[in-house]
Amino acid sequence: MIKFSSSRSFCKELDGNDALRKFRDKFFIPKQPGGEEAVYLAGNSLGLQPKSVIKYLEQELKDWENLAVEGHIHAKNPWLPYHEFLTDQTSRIIGAKPEEVVNMNSLTANLHLLFVSFYRPDSKRHKILIEANAFPSDHYAVQSQIKFHGFDVSKSLVEMKPRDGEDKIRKEDIEEYIDKEGDSTALVWFGGVNYYTGQAFDMKRITEAAHLKGCIAGFDLAHAAGNLEMNLHDWNTDFAVWCNYKYMNGGPGTIGGAFVHEKHIKDKTLPKFLGWWGHDKKTRFLMDHKYIPIPTAESWQLSNPPILQLAALKASLDIFDEAGIKLLRRKSIMLTSYLEFLIKEKRNPDIEIITPEEENERGCQLSLRVKKEGKKLYEKLIGKGVFCDWREPDVIRAAPVPLYNSFEDVWKFSEML
Ligand SMILES: *Cc1c(COP(=O)(O)O)cnc(C)c1O
Repeated sequence: MIKFSSSRSFCKELDGNDALRKFRDKFFIPKQPGGEEAVYLAGNSLGLQPKSVIKYLEQELKDWENLAVEGHIHAKNPWLPYHEFLTDQTSRIIGAKPEEVVNMNSLTANLHLLFVSFYRPDSKRHKILIEANAFPSDHYAVQSQIKFHGFDVSKSLVEMKPRDGEDKIRKEDIEEYIDKEGDSTALVWFGGVNYYTGQAFDMKRITEAAHLKGCIAGFDLAHAAGNLEMNLHDWNTDFAVWCNYKYMNGGPGTIGGAFVHEKHIKDKTLPKFLGWWGHDKKTRFLMDHKYIPIPTAESWQLSNPPILQLAALKASLDIFDEAGIKLLRRKSIMLTSYLEFLIKEKRNPDIEIITPEEENERGCQLSLRVKKEGKKLYEKLIGKGVFCDWREPDVIRAAPVPLYNSFEDVWKFSEML
């Protein structure tokens, strides 16, 4: 790793040597009232709009205008198989085989759909292990699943906490719990990256530990997709879900993603909620009532998907493919380390980085605990044209994203902070 310096000229040098620099021009960077580009460090919350999105949308709007219902078959990019145009690229984002992924619904809806298949508690094995500070939607979803199956949340939901005085959950604590209580645990459900602390979990090791005890291992990749390099297939992960509006830049509230490991796809004993879009494509329009599953993760689909959302996501996936997740991750490690270096250089006793220091235990995001008047500091930053966010009770999250953030963005942020 190169030696960083806090001078302004140094950040320009880093930008000058950045092989991915041209990708910034492919995105709309929000402007401040004076016309200057803002410092956008909120890509972990909502990714920026690729400039190419409008072209992708216009194509579908034009085909809808001119062809209407015929567009399902005769559009330039026919709508019937449209989601398939995203499959290969999606599989590369998370390190899966194409038949293991599908874009559908939204994150929390996909969580419930896949829990139907992968959370099947019985009196011996009914617990779900989750990070104590997982995203609220995950907690609500998991609580409701436990209740739906007639179990008691206070007995079946196990929340993994950091040790007293620490912010990250230690690997060995997760493994020790699974080793001890794995026999009564049905499902180990973790975030790939925790939304609050920015801690990235070792999904490979968690999966191994879970499987040793006969538990299912699933992950919420909301903050991991488009951020970390992953190999879900090789890691033998059972299933995963994510959203495409954070690092994936697919647009506000857009369609989510789901992964089911190959080994489960053809298992006819798995319970599943069905819809016509999961039915065999060749006989779908025979309109009979005998369900034949598509032999891929697409068999979890319920409905025909929103083409305009898929089109916007396709624009972003094309950019991801051009840049490549390996190079992106390499730049991301540099950007985040640089941000960490600059913050530490200032030696502000009121600001503490709670995200792990180890590069394989974090992605883009640094979470800064502000000991005094954090909300005020956050509001001042916003007033100066910085986009970052505030998470109660005391954390500012900032995420330099390798596709469009520059080293200068990081430098400016640390100066203002
Ligand atoms: C962003 C996020 C969500 C959001 O869920 P939606 O169903 O897309 O609204 C859920 N879980 C985690 C961990 C998140 O970071």
